Amino acid sequence: MAEKIGFLGLGIMGRGMARNLIKAGFDVTVWNRTPARTDEFVAAGARAGESPAAVARACDIVFVCVSDTPDVEAVLFGEQGAAAGLSAGKLVVDHSTISPQATRAFAEKLSALGVRFLDAPVSGGSEGAAKGTLSIMIGGAAEDIERARPYLQAMGKTITHVGEQGAGQMVKLVNQILVVGNMLAAAEALLFAQAGGLDLSKALSAVAGGAAGSWMLSNRGPQVIARDWRPGFTIDLQQKDLRLALRAGDEMGVPLVATSLIYNLYRTLQQQGLGSEGNHALVKALEHLAGFEIKGA
Ligand code: NAP
Repeated sequence: MAEKIGFLGLGIMGRGMARNLIKAGFDVTVWNRTPARTDEFVAAGARAGESPAAVARACDIVFVCVSDTPDVEAVLFGEQGAAAGLSAGKLVVDHSTISPQATRAFAEKLSALGVRFLDAPVSGGSEGAAKGTLSIMIGGAAEDIERARPYLQAMGKTITHVGEQGAGQMVKLVNQILVVGNMLAAAEALLFAQAGGLDLSKALSAVAGGAAGSWMLSNRGPQVIARDWRPGFTIDLQQKDLRLALRAGDEMGVPLVATSLIYNLYRTLQQQGLGSEGNHALVKALEHLAGFEIKGA
């Protein structure tokens, strides 16, 4: 029998994920820090909880998707946090991208209450969240993943058990190193194409299906060409993920040469007040260096 589901955090990602759980017919209770965001979910058949604690009290499995490590900590262990409503046997699934080390500490604190925990960060952007096609990389026990699987399948297509608690977050950082490297290459290539007098859309469709193809090139390249900086994923959150990757790399003694460069390019954009634009606005840092802009379609 389906369990009672709670969902905490209805931002760009959480909104699409919670919608898909409701659409699949599950019994869903939502909570968001800014309460007005819950209205559309109540209209769609969900319940709204007063606090994370109230949601945790009412539900068997609590999904979380908020911004950063301190935000997950606040939602789980702050005043009226989920921990106050959790009891032995319940399961928390964290879809946020946060510190792997903090994740292991949160899992231990919950374990002391008899509460199970999976770190299950996602990839696939706002599009994947809306369509239910996310890639979900999970750290934790296999039996907890089996328990969560029907709900995960409503939100994602590729569900991969990658290791113990914390391993999901480590794989997500691997993902982010790849994402920003692809975005930097796409931005540099588009500027090069423009300087060469090429039709950017034609150049993009000529290369996107070959060895140079990437999700960032296919999905964010056209947005760059249209100078559409609306975020699927904000620069502020992208910068946060690179900070997490650099910190973990530092602890392991691994040089992250390209990632640290891109981290600093994003920092320059934040300093210009562009933190809420999409991560593809990385091209603006290169435009500044090049002294010209992508003309736009
Ligand atoms: P977002 O649109 O900025 O939404 C953030 C959500 O977190 C909002 O619901 C916000 O509540 C809530 N929140 C933030 N701080 C909080 C706090 N201290 N206490 C309670 N709630 C808090 O972000 P998003 O794009 O959905 O990203 C959410 C997570 O998914 C992040 O960890 C991100 O790195 C990860 N992610 C995002 C993408 C993407 O493409 N967007 C892809 C993969 C993974 P309010 O509504 O009150 O502000």
